[in-house]
Amino acid sequence: MDCLFCKLVAGEIPATVLYEDEHVIAFEDIMPQAPEHFLVIPKKHISTLNDLTDEDIFVMGMLPVVASKVAKQKGIAEDGYRVVMNCNENGGQTVYHIHMHVLAGRQLTWPPG
Ligand code: AMP
Ligand code: ZN
Repeated sequence: MDCLFCKLVAGEIPATVLYEDEHVIAFEDIMPQAPEHFLVIPKKHISTLNDLTDEDIFVMGMLPVVASKVAKQKGIAEDGYRVVMNCNENGGQTVYHIHMHVLAGRQLTWPPG
């Protein structure tokens, strides 16, 4: 399958890995939109939020748990951070392997653009 994040999971493209277990991997975003910007993804290929099924409930529940673990390790948890998942074109999704963005290190504005 020609999926960028599946290749990253397989070690075929490089990444700065922050956390990894059997189901989930977290790594630095290549084009950070804040002083801290990392992604948390399931290793299983799921294209978008619309493709989730009941089978995915466990792994999707892991994403915010891993996000907060990494945020604590990075020392950004207390000041705060934002978790974002973009879905399809209007949501601004560009990589069609589901991922959770974690952004921190500056005051983030609301509403997002
Ligand atoms: P989205 O626009 O929500 O689909 O987010 C995709 C994210 O993946 C963007 O923030 C990109 O900067 C990031 N990205 C794309 N390629 C890579 C890569 N090779 N390693 C790390 N992050 C990447
Ligand atoms: Zn994939």
